[in-house]
Amino acid sequence: MAVSLAPYAANESRSRGRKYDEPTSTYRGEYQRDRDRIIHSTAFRRLVYKTQVFVNHEGDLYRTRLTHSLEVSQIGRTVAVALNLNEPLTEAICLAHDLGHTPFGHAGQDTLNACMRDYGGFEHNLQSLRVVDVLEAKYADFAGLNLMFETREGILKHCSARNARELGDVGLRFLERKQPGLEAQIANIADAIAYNNHDVDDGFRAGLLSLEQLREQPLFATRFDEVHERYPDLEDRRLIYEIIRRMIGAVVSDLIEETRRRIDAAAPNSIDDVRESEKPMVSMSDAMYAQHVSLKQFLHKHLYSHEQKLAMTRKVQAMVQGLFSAYMGDVNRMPDQFAVVASRADEFGRARVVTDFIAGMTDRYAIAAHESLTA
Ligand code: MG
Repeated sequence: MAVSLAPYAANESRSRGRKYDEPTSTYRGEYQRDRDRIIHSTAFRRLVYKTQVFVNHEGDLYRTRLTHSLEVSQIGRTVAVALNLNEPLTEAICLAHDLGHTPFGHAGQDTLNACMRDYGGFEHNLQSLRVVDVLEAKYADFAGLNLMFETREGILKHCSARNARELGDVGLRFLERKQPGLEAQIANIADAIAYNNHDVDDGFRAGLLSLEQLREQPLFATRFDEVHERYPDLEDRRLIYEIIRRMIGAVVSDLIEETRRRIDAAAPNSIDDVRESEKPMVSMSDAMYAQHVSLKQFLHKHLYSHEQKLAMTRKVQAMVQGLFSAYMGDVNRMPDQFAVVASRADEFGRARVVTDFIAGMTDRYAIAAHESLTA
């Protein structure tokens, strides 16, 4: 553990701890253990075959949920260290933030949410928490990974009021409109910084975004001009990388500097002071945030809603709906560990088991499962 942790950083000696008491580790801090538990989890290994934006088989170079999570973690750790915050905790939250993501990215999650409309809905953040709290079966003494409160607080970045009421401890802040610790706030923004930048790269590689379009974005255009002036003959691939690395650098530096200002102004003495504050303290400057949001909206319009992506979305909807109704109709189509629990449950409980099974699938597992239904 770093000796220079700020007083308002998460600190295991003042943590709200684990649900089940465990003996301390000889060589690792508690948040390091959390990070290690996440990396050893089944759900983490599945991220390699789950879509970020491009479906896994569309190309080997595109981001998957796994490489996305690693990029989030890498950005988050930089910010945490620069601000004397808890690096292992930040890393743990970043690596776990998408554990509950369905196959096929947002199309999968939206479809599953629609299937679950009458059964309590589906939220991928809540599912990430459910994975680490309930679904991972690794320990003899308890279900889930028994992570520290602060790690769980960070994983649950959004939550509806209805679900928050049922969750207890980590749900409370959504009802009281309080903030999570700074490490959780960092993970949240690191996620957005990572995907904004890597989606420019992936979108360009896929031929769905052009340099001309990207140059309409101030965040991109500023770096384009810098790089183009200095290296006028650079080929497009290297040009894009050089621009993206500078974009990440600019946004992350701005984030660190603005957050430092906000922390100084609020002068918190503890993580509880951070939690009590009205607004998040981890933030970009207004000017940078406007550029970041503009790029995000651009990606929504030109990449996520691209006709080629929409065609994939329709296929995914049919697949996920097909799986959901098939398993609801006959739970024995699922593997034993799900079928047994589902067969003892009422309709509401059955829908949750079916959803846990589908949400855990990788893209290719879901495709094969769907094919086997019609075989
Ligand atoms: Mg993410």
